[in-house]
Amino acid sequence: MATPALADTTIIHADGVIVDADSAPRGKSTVTVTDGRIVSIEDGFTGVPEGATMVHLAGKILAPGMIDLHVHLTGDPGGDFWKGAVEPDEWGVVVGAKNARITALAGFTTVREAGSGPETAFALRRGTAEGFIAGPRIIAAGVPLAIIGGHGDVNGFRPEVNEVLDTGFTCTGAVECAEKVRLASQNGSDVIKITATGGVLSQQGRGLEAHFTDAEMKSIADTAHSLGLKVMAHAHGARGIEAASRAGIDTIEHGTFLDEAAAREMKKNGTVLVPTLMAFKGVTERLGKGVYTPVVEAKIGAVADTARVFMGKALRWGVPIAFGTDAGVFGHGRNAGEFALMVAQGMTPRQAFASATTTAAKVLDMEGEIGRIAPGYSADIIAVDANPLDDISTLEKVEWVMVRGRVIE
Ligand SMILES: [Zn+2]
Repeated sequence: MATPALADTTIIHADGVIVDADSAPRGKSTVTVTDGRIVSIEDGFTGVPEGATMVHLAGKILAPGMIDLHVHLTGDPGGDFWKGAVEPDEWGVVVGAKNARITALAGFTTVREAGSGPETAFALRRGTAEGFIAGPRIIAAGVPLAIIGGHGDVNGFRPEVNEVLDTGFTCTGAVECAEKVRLASQNGSDVIKITATGGVLSQQGRGLEAHFTDAEMKSIADTAHSLGLKVMAHAHGARGIEAASRAGIDTIEHGTFLDEAAAREMKKNGTVLVPTLMAFKGVTERLGKGVYTPVVEAKIGAVADTARVFMGKALRWGVPIAFGTDAGVFGHGRNAGEFALMVAQGMTPRQAFASATTTAAKVLDMEGEIGRIAPGYSADIIAVDANPLDDISTLEKVEWVMVRGRVIE
């Protein structure tokens, strides 16, 4: 009989542990991690078994690794839409490997990849899972579904160039939209991403309201759910948000022009808002600098003011909110800047931290796996200098990160 391989154990000593956003913090503790899973949390500093790796984080507080529900790892910020015609998808994997490490070092141990080339995010997903590249756990959408000429489709080129660059994921009518959901599922999507309304950074200039019909969105949601997949919908206009929620879409990304009627519909259906406030900050920073084309500049101008208040309104109207940033629209690694923006619109630090841990885990149907430091959970752990529930800005300078039991360097 072969001898079983020795379990890989890490012992972490820290001055405090935030086990989850709702529990009282623990004092000096020892967290034991074996083969990528949290085994125990004990009071005080216990001894180190022979063969175990010791991590001593004096003066640091451990917290659950954070979850960003909206990133684009394969891209960096920039207004050059024509790059879509000159950069091959393979380059996206290289850019993504760089950004995966930066994202993990910023304390984000799970991300939902909200739209990429056909295979790029899937390759990264496997790369971080197998430990070939440093990075977070990746839940990947793959290519987003869009209407022909909508946000998410190729725009701004000559028709024959648009055709060559076509991703194959536009659809018209309930039947074709169901077909594209099934194709995405077959290709390996963990979640279906759709661009339910117009969008800001694309070259399409057909407004920010609903682009898919109600029947198309219902078909997308029903088909995805029948395959056990959730749907995330990029949406800005209020009626588009309301229609997406009514159709059964699971999360609304951005949600900029959300009004009370749309909020009521979301609350009724349990549709979660992922506000991506950092995206608005990122694009506004580059406004008027010749980065964007005129069609895009006009759209950024249209969303800049409401971006400072809409999440606060959603919160007051009782819409469930989970953390997502749209990193890639701004520089990767600044993800935790979202917390200050959420708090500025009325969230408590505790609510904001929950939105990036327990709440986000629930959106991913992974609440038994990630989002807290507890026995049996994946060893996704960060270390910070202060209690984030007292000072949320401490999350912007994460000192140490472990993803699935591996320390990120
Ligand atoms: Zn996005």
